[in-house]
Amino acid sequence: MSKLYVVGIGPGEYEQMTMEAYNVLKNCDVIIGYTVYVDLVRDHFPEKEFLTTPMTKEVERCELAFEKALQGNTTAMICSGDAGVYGMSGLILEIGQKYQQVEVVVVSGVTAAISGASVLGAPLIHDFAVISLSDLLTPMEKIEKRLECAAMADFVICLYNPSSKKRHDYLKKACDIILRYASKDTVCGYVKNIGRAGEESTILTLEELKECEVDMFTTIFIGNSQTKEMNGKMVTPRGYKNV
Ligand code: SAH
Repeated sequence: MSKLYVVGIGPGEYEQMTMEAYNVLKNCDVIIGYTVYVDLVRDHFPEKEFLTTPMTKEVERCELAFEKALQGNTTAMICSGDAGVYGMSGLILEIGQKYQQVEVVVVSGVTAAISGASVLGAPLIHDFAVISLSDLLTPMEKIEKRLECAAMADFVICLYNPSSKKRHDYLKKACDIILRYASKDTVCGYVKNIGRAGEESTILTLEELKECEVDMFTTIFIGNSQTKEMNGKMVTPRGYKNV
């Protein structure tokens, strides 16, 4: 039976890929993905056939992957981070209903929340919520409700897709909603280009975050009421006594 792997390659750096993901890419015939991700792995697997499609062509990319697998090629569809976190594994499994002859295997990767958290310190040590600010596939009212509920419940909040050309004020709007429940001094952080050239991290207050312009290669961390800055690191105490 032909195999189609959906592989999370981690944030970007080769070393941050899991051994399982590495082995799948090493042993497959075709690697397919969004151009930016293919460029991240191309040099490490030069002997493979590479196929790329642009950002908005997700369904076409999946169909292409199934067609390649049907032709007898072991195929790997790659995503950054984890393929199941705002990635392609769901769509592949949905489309896969039409391609019963292809076995789909999902291979996990290190998502931006996890890789970014370790750059900042230990912001996610307790309960946290992950919310995407992209309203391409989710209505804005739902995003706002999720932000509000997470802030009300004092979750640490991790924001994906914080910005794009059309959505440059979404982070500001999100901070305004969170500020209804959280102090303006709440410790926050963001990491840009995790595991890629130009990696950059900043720790700041919620009030300062509200005024920041960030790009789409940034992941945002908003602490809970206990989160502190300790020696330049963002730390949410786990709650152990006597520390
Ligand atoms: N599947 C990916 C997420 C895709 S959604 C994962 O699991 O990480 C795209 C968003 O993820 C970006 O807008 C950004 O918020 C975040 N992201 C993904 N890779 C990143 C990186 N290397 N550095 C910073 N943020 C990243």
